[in-house]
Amino acid sequence: MSIRKIVKYGEDSLRKPSKEVSKISKKIQTLVYDLLDTMYANNGVGLAAPQVGENLRVFVIDVATGNEKLNPMVFINPKIIKKSGACSSYEGCLSFPEAYTDVKRYSDVTVKALGLNGKAFIKEAKGGSLLARAIQHEFDHLDGVLFIDHCRNRFEADRILAEKGLDPVDGDRLVDEPQLDELLADIPSNPGETVVAEEKNVD
Ligand code: ZN
Repeated sequence: MSIRKIVKYGEDSLRKPSKEVSKISKKIQTLVYDLLDTMYANNGVGLAAPQVGENLRVFVIDVATGNEKLNPMVFINPKIIKKSGACSSYEGCLSFPEAYTDVKRYSDVTVKALGLNGKAFIKEAKGGSLLARAIQHEFDHLDGVLFIDHCRNRFEADRILAEKGLDPVDGDRLVDEPQLDELLADIPSNPGETVVAEEKNVD
């Protein structure tokens, strides 16, 4: 187990789609432990394999905070099988040191994945929780999608990226999310908290 170097925004592996894991080999086990070590060493909430230069469909998350007991979660070959609602909150990424911007996310997601033991499991995360947002953030990494591609305000994102000496948002990579835009239309950004859009009932 070791702490690996985190790939920074601008490097190739962050934009490359990752391959499915065919077998949970020793190499994959080591990768998972290294991801966890590297995430904890950097006080991250999640880390995906492409962020350590391995384009494989693996990520780890731990949303425990403060004095809570560590709760590492491992997702191998994950699939998001359900998503609904909308929320927005300021996100960062270990590949973008200290750059935070407001991003759109689904408030509720269900993911199916394999654990490190090779068994399939289903995880539901709701209400715009940190886990719900982290799953979407880390899942995106496996497809070469980054949090800035979901930014609510491109000008704000560009300003923050420039402040950190990072490349601006790539307009061609912005994710088109009309349903999220509609749900979030009347909801202002709030750097201090996650805002969750009410589901609009269609009568
Ligand atoms: Zn990230």
